[in-house]
Amino acid sequence: MANLRFLRGYNDAVVLGLARSGAVTRVELAERSGLTPQAVSKVVGRLIADGLLVESGTRNVGVGKPRTLLKLVADSRLALGAQVERDELRVVLTDLAGTVLDRAVAPLPRGFDPPAFVAELTRLVDRLRSDRLIGVGIGFVGPLDHRTGVVHDPNGLTGWHDVPLRSWAEERLGLPVVLDKDTNTAMVAEAWRRGEELRDAVLVLVGTGLGIGMLLDGRVHRGARTNAGEYGHTTLQLDGPTCVCGRTGCVEALHNLAAARGDLVEATSVVGVAVADLVQLLDIDHVVLAGRAVLAEPAAYLDGVRARLPKDEWLPVDVSITPLGDDVVAAGAAMLVLSEFYGRPR
Ligand SMILES: [Zn+2]
Repeated sequence: MANLRFLRGYNDAVVLGLARSGAVTRVELAERSGLTPQAVSKVVGRLIADGLLVESGTRNVGVGKPRTLLKLVADSRLALGAQVERDELRVVLTDLAGTVLDRAVAPLPRGFDPPAFVAELTRLVDRLRSDRLIGVGIGFVGPLDHRTGVVHDPNGLTGWHDVPLRSWAEERLGLPVVLDKDTNTAMVAEAWRRGEELRDAVLVLVGTGLGIGMLLDGRVHRGARTNAGEYGHTTLQLDGPTCVCGRTGCVEALHNLAAARGDLVEATSVVGVAVADLVQLLDIDHVVLAGRAVLAEPAAYLDGVRARLPKDEWLPVDVSITPLGDDVVAAGAAMLVLSEFYGRPR
């Protein structure tokens, strides 16, 4: 399986994933992983030798001698995550806990082509490079194929017809790379941060475009061609203005036009109406707003969305702004790399 590329072994990933949530004993690791105590001992020994785990204190367990606690060494390995917007590239460095340690940001030329992009990505990655890196995640504007790592003709960019970006980037950077839509990596970031609390949620990313990431029953929903979430191109007005996608009256076109003429009430209402439709369709109980338009006017977007949601008391919907701010897409891309490192299903 492609998602085991980063690992020395599946058992190592399972044990690390369990240690991620807090200090654990070898006995607990065996109980929770289903591995035999002998297998756990072997894996733990290997992970300690590699510097990923450290023995740290003991826990009393009533009878018998206290058990040694094992802790994840968060900065023993690092991941990079990138956000590719139509006018900007952002790369963040995170530790194994997903904490952002450093970042580099650079403008991208209008309509940039693949060679220009890969050169700029390489430059920023080299600025943050470390010998502890396990991989690079890229959150890119859609449409693209997450499984094959191929970008398919994003609106507003030239020369991006069926570009195998993941393999090109792996070759240039000399590191494993995962590619996903920016909306999905942002959703991954929120799911990672909030854990079990978030099971059925939508993340609305309002940047130069408008798209959504969906978490359904605890998993990021990507669809048959991994292209789900192109919600900005849902028709809201049959005779509406022409959109960059060539259709008319799209959510994205209506929002961007209102925003461009400074009509914040109309812009946020468009997002609110669109989100209300999603709540009806998917029965989600959490909505997370992100993207630079939202971050510039957070209170207005919160109000605009909340005002349009269903009023039924038994259908409460929590609406929030991502606390990860401008880093959410890039940090989520790094967390996607970490998820593969830990062998967690996604
Ligand atoms: Zn459209």
